[in-house]
Amino acid sequence: MVFPVVSGGELTSRVPEGNGKIRWNWRNRKPTNTYQVFMVVGDFDVKHSTTPTGLPLITGYGADLGANAAAARASVERTPEIVEYLSGLVGPYPFDSQGGVVVKGLEFALENQTRPVYGDFFFDECANTSVVAHENMHQWFGDSVSFDRWQHAWRNEGPATYAEWLGSEHIGEGTAQQLADATYQKYPADDPFWQIPPGDPGVDNNFHDVIYERGAMTLQALRNTIGDATFFKLLRIWVAQHKYSDADTGEFIALAERLSGKRLDTLFTTCCSPRATRPPARHAGTTATAKPASWERIQHNQRLHARSTIS
Ligand SMILES: [Zn+2]
Repeated sequence: MVFPVVSGGELTSRVPEGNGKIRWNWRNRKPTNTYQVFMVVGDFDVKHSTTPTGLPLITGYGADLGANAAAARASVERTPEIVEYLSGLVGPYPFDSQGGVVVKGLEFALENQTRPVYGDFFFDECANTSVVAHENMHQWFGDSVSFDRWQHAWRNEGPATYAEWLGSEHIGEGTAQQLADATYQKYPADDPFWQIPPGDPGVDNNFHDVIYERGAMTLQALRNTIGDATFFKLLRIWVAQHKYSDADTGEFIALAERLSGKRLDTLFTTCCSPRATRPPARHAGTTATAKPASWERIQHNQRLHARSTIS
């Protein structure tokens, strides 16, 4: 039996070499972080198609996904639609192909460049487009624009988590503000959550909930402070200016201040710096509301993200 091979980028050739061997050549033409290089070989149903924007779309599903197979396909096959939505917010998609692979038993998802991988646990209750939004937002934040020190990981996981919140807002299952409120209320004032600064969490906490949730709350606080138009302009300019390169958090803050004309040092110091503290209510919102419809699904994702080392 010949198993298919899926990697990042585009399949350039598939050459029989005799004795039942096949050489698969994949090429990724854009700069790639080392941890986002990817290859899977096995009993997968692999589909090669084209996105509405004309890019190669490669998806793969383990033959052993069982009851999770339908939900996995219903979610990952919507990747082009989700990428198009995100492109409308943060600018042109930075790579030459799209896709995703779902693997049985993998307890995390990872934003491999052009080809995120998802554990089937993300789809064990129903379709889950939130995690697809998360991993594809990383194509801009983490894959194209990266950093040189892991203490800045909130700048990857914050926007990726915020993409889940924006997706919820887009489909009417709860606004980003409602999700920020619910996240803020999830942790009492004396919870250790507030003791870990997202801007310098330490090696043992590099993928703690703080990196994801305080990262996203920081973006919501910033959006509230500078307004929607400036906020999304900031994201678009940021990913365009630093495309395929590392960037520093200080540069992000400086750009936000320049575009908004506001001093933002207090906001960033409180929310995401190495000296971060529990933000005052006006930053994250404290209005007691019912949990948004998307809350449980996004929390399900967060539990899986936090028990892994990377996602
Ligand atoms: Zn992530």
